[in-house]
Amino acid sequence: MKNDRETKTLLSEKREAEYVGEDGLRYCGICQEPREKVVPGLLSLFGTDRRPRLCRCQRTLLEAQEQEERERKKQERILRLRELCFQGASLEDATFAGSTVDSPPLERCRRYAEAWAEACEAHIGLLLWGPPGTGKSYAAACVANHLLQQEIPVRMIKLTQLLNCGFREREETLCRLLRVPLLIIDDYGMERETEYGLEITFSLLIAGWNPEGR
Ligand SMILES: [Zn+2]
Repeated sequence: MKNDRETKTLLSEKREAEYVGEDGLRYCGICQEPREKVVPGLLSLFGTDRRPRLCRCQRTLLEAQEQEERERKKQERILRLRELCFQGASLEDATFAGSTVDSPPLERCRRYAEAWAEACEAHIGLLLWGPPGTGKSYAAACVANHLLQQEIPVRMIKLTQLLNCGFREREETLCRLLRVPLLIIDDYGMERETEYGLEITFSLLIAGWNPEGR
């Protein structure tokens, strides 16, 4: 990818390679395409009937710049989605490709992420359980990053985050969480067995089950 200065240099170098063709129009010395076109009717208005035209090299350069800009904007959007998803948690960099240790949850999550379109369509979730330290959170974060990379919004929260906030804040947070296609509840531990924990869990599951409720 070229920066602006390199691009300008490239274009000026190419301008030096221009020549005037037999029809009197300027031509590119590299791709031999005209860099001007005749537009009848312009002469009386502007004193010339020539308008600039991009040759093949310039079009290629422009397309590359536009592609670079699209990619830059995409990466910015992904960064914002990632910040929203993890809220500063340390799992931002968890990826299937970057994981060095393979584990059953990781393999299960990999298949889930790869089949996301079907899973989402059929409202299929995934429950990972087991003792601490078996890579469940890491595997779930890998799913999140896999989808975020495709600009699919994901949120990863701990149930305690919801339990510890006030009623109003909790309602607002629940509404926001239910709008994302995939919600990951991490560290779903003992607090689920309290009445309050169960209430919140049911709110999430029931509203999440009905796609119209999103
Ligand atoms: Zn050219």
